[in-house]
Amino acid sequence: RKWVYTFADGMAEGSAADVALLGSKGANLAEMSRIGLPVPPGFTITTDACNRALQDGEIPQRVREQVDAALRHCEIMSGKKFGAITNPLVVSVRSGARVSMPGMMDTVLNLGLNDETVEALSEQSGDERFAYDTYRRFIQMYATVVMGCDHALFEDILDAARENAGASRDNELGAEELRGIVKSYKNAIQDDLDETFPQDPKEQLWRTVEAVFKSWNNPRAATYRALHNIPVEWGTAVTVQAMVFGNSGRNSATGVAFTRNPSTGENVLFGEFLVDAQGEDVVAGFRTPDPLSIVDDKPGASMQERLPEPYKALTSLANDLEQHFGDMQDIEFTVEAGKLWLLQTRAGKRTAKAAIRIAIEMANSDVISRQTALMRVDASSLDQLLHPSIDPDAKRKIIASGLPASPGAACGEIVFSSADAVAAKAEGRDVILVRPETSPDDIQGMEAAVGILTSRGGMTSHAAVVARGMGKPCITGAGGMRIDKHNKALVTGGVMLRSGDYLTLDGNQGQVLEGKLPMVDSELSGDFATLMEWSDAERRLKVRTNADTPTEARVARNFQADGIGLCRTEHMFAEGERSNIMREMIVAETEEERRAVLDRLMPMQRSDFIELFEIMQGHPIAIRLFDPPLHDFLPKEEEAIRESAKTLGIDSSKMMRRVEELREINPMLGNRGVRLAICFPEIAEMQTRAIFEAAILAGKKSGELVVPEIVVPLVAYNAELEYIRTRIDKIADEVMASHDQKIEYLVGCIIELPRAAIRAELIAQSADFLSFGTNDLTQTTLGISRDDASTFLSTYLRKGVIQLDPFINLDVEGVGELMRIATERGRKTEPELLLGITGEHGGDPTSITFCEKLGLDYVSCSPYRVPIARLAAAQAAI
Ligand code: ADP
Ligand code: MG
Ligand code: MG
Repeated sequence: RKWVYTFADGMAEGSAADVALLGSKGANLAEMSRIGLPVPPGFTITTDACNRALQDGEIPQRVREQVDAALRHCEIMSGKKFGAITNPLVVSVRSGARVSMPGMMDTVLNLGLNDETVEALSEQSGDERFAYDTYRRFIQMYATVVMGCDHALFEDILDAARENAGASRDNELGAEELRGIVKSYKNAIQDDLDETFPQDPKEQLWRTVEAVFKSWNNPRAATYRALHNIPVEWGTAVTVQAMVFGNSGRNSATGVAFTRNPSTGENVLFGEFLVDAQGEDVVAGFRTPDPLSIVDDKPGASMQERLPEPYKALTSLANDLEQHFGDMQDIEFTVEAGKLWLLQTRAGKRTAKAAIRIAIEMANSDVISRQTALMRVDASSLDQLLHPSIDPDAKRKIIASGLPASPGAACGEIVFSSADAVAAKAEGRDVILVRPETSPDDIQGMEAAVGILTSRGGMTSHAAVVARGMGKPCITGAGGMRIDKHNKALVTGGVMLRSGDYLTLDGNQGQVLEGKLPMVDSELSGDFATLMEWSDAERRLKVRTNADTPTEARVARNFQADGIGLCRTEHMFAEGERSNIMREMIVAETEEERRAVLDRLMPMQRSDFIELFEIMQGHPIAIRLFDPPLHDFLPKEEEAIRESAKTLGIDSSKMMRRVEELREINPMLGNRGVRLAICFPEIAEMQTRAIFEAAILAGKKSGELVVPEIVVPLVAYNAELEYIRTRIDKIADEVMASHDQKIEYLVGCIIELPRAAIRAELIAQSADFLSFGTNDLTQTTLGISRDDASTFLSTYLRKGVIQLDPFINLDVEGVGELMRIATERGRKTEPELLLGITGEHGGDPTSITFCEKLGLDYVSCSPYRVPIARLAAAQAAI
């Protein structure tokens, strides 16, 4: 069994295809090496080895043997020797899972240094300062990652040394001071752990490999995996690689480059670097890095000006990488004494806006196909673009500015810790997380916040990268702002804000604004419109919307919804004067009385429907007959009952009695849906009349043909549908006769009870269409009340009993199976049977994929999810 894969100098045992085995970092290093790019030699220990080691509790002998052999190979390729006192090989030990998990697991740089090899490094480089800087970095990383020391231990020593020397940065410390720091570090470890810093490079190596394996299970990584649905079985690979030193003087540097701008998608090399620095320095946010390319407001700072030759090499390699991988790349590089090395490449994280622009431009220049371009955009991420930005007319009071690290706008109350952010979110408050910088420990706080603001760090800092991934506005490096942690206050631009005060972030411009500013809807032209056009060309599924009001219908039409899949009519009776008439109707004691009140409701319903038909301009509208239990419309408390009775001018004891009569133990499974229509047909008849009159009137007015679809809810028996259908047909005939006009219409039902799904073959004899009401179907299939689910479903998710919330992601094996049965049986009766889905799942991309496979005709989702569903439907069809 092969546990270790080497790479060096135009050759590699692995390739980009081996992501599962070598992790994405290892696989791409192999690929880059294979195609002849400048990559320091090294080898990758497989994820299998990790899993085996974690299982056995130690690294298996076979793995050790192969690592030894690979290390010898690396020595030969680099011309150096691990642990030797002349020309020592110094390596990094890097973690890397199948998908990038930024900062979640550990990496140790400069391994192999000890009291002797550091002297060799010093002699060989002729730079004692550099050698000791490298050594002290190694001790610090090794001690924290492998030995478990506290970071602060070393920060304090470093701070003290800096202060003593009057240096503002690490790289201003001299060799003598760095020697002193190394000594203090070792003493600190001894004091802290009663253990000596190991001098044997082999011991250093094995303990580090073991620690990196174990870091797969650290709490940070576990949280990240849970958030991103990453299976624990994947494990991490470990790459051991010869070091190249970006901290070896003014002609050396380290940096991060994106082949295109990850915020806007613009096709320019974008990134940051630091001269005389190593690895993590750029992302750690301790020194603010400089731009790669020349910028006007920082003359002389860029890599282009300071390291022109390596810069040229970088731009050309960036281009090669993008062509080779066919996607925008995020590259780590180091310049050692003027020579450029590549240390990592991967598809770059980007905002939704950038993703769209990049995909379209790459397709337009034939790097990828249109279909690939569509697959490149995460459908759910479109959410970011559909959300509002700051009203251009709003008065802005800028109190600080920083880097526009992640676009969009957000406003919320200030919090200064992740814990506060999480707590506030739980109370339903919007908060802006304000930190000096963020670390992986802040993930949950960032998740809970609507926006993130940091006083330090650059465009590639932790805060920036994570916020872009989450699609949240973020401003970093707002240097003019001071955070007073102890008093929980923020001092900036002459104002002092406390936690709980409002801030608005403009992530597009990097502006921090005082107060709560008004927002406006986003612009959906340009690249976005192109993306939608390409999606529409690919998709088979129609995308309708769930809309109950004219406003919702207009939003959905604006997003080019193909119709309304579900219009819930009861929402029309929930407000104002109508709710009173509704109550009057419910309290009425005889059918005659009820009909009299319903006659007053009819014109209101009719005008609602006319408006909807007009907005939808001939696109189909499915209108659901009254569904909820009647007592939903009655007051519950005695006081409120008395008041309502007074308003209606009826006897309050009569109203009380009616409330009592209608009370149900389990209303979700009580008298609602078609059951109500059978008990009180006059309600359904009134609605039917309103629908047909509206359809005829709206059709006359606009000249468009209106084909109403009448949806009967909660059907279990075919006979229920039959019963109500007879009445609908009768009223349709009456209305059409009185207007002397014939119109087409459909009558169907919602499949939301398991019995209906199973009996779909028979039901389809009376139904022109079936729509899957997956909210209720999930409730009734699982026997879980959606309103009560949160108390135990979150525990289920946490304990791993279930992986996904069935109310968000369709339960394909259970609810989905019923849908499959209903689809098959329904189409046995009527091969052309119109089928759709109308639950929340209609807007969820993975559920849409399932609906495509089932061969449904449409999905229906909330208005703001229409564009997401259009793209997801295209992706499902590709
Ligand atoms: P992460 O996954 O956290 O980015 P990496 O393994 O990529 O961890 O390494 C952390 C940093 O150290 C990166 O900036 C990387 O470029 C740098 N680095 C890793 N290995 C080497 C090496 N052999 N020589 C120089 N720099 C390295
Ligand atoms: Mg890192
Ligand atoms: Mg990296």
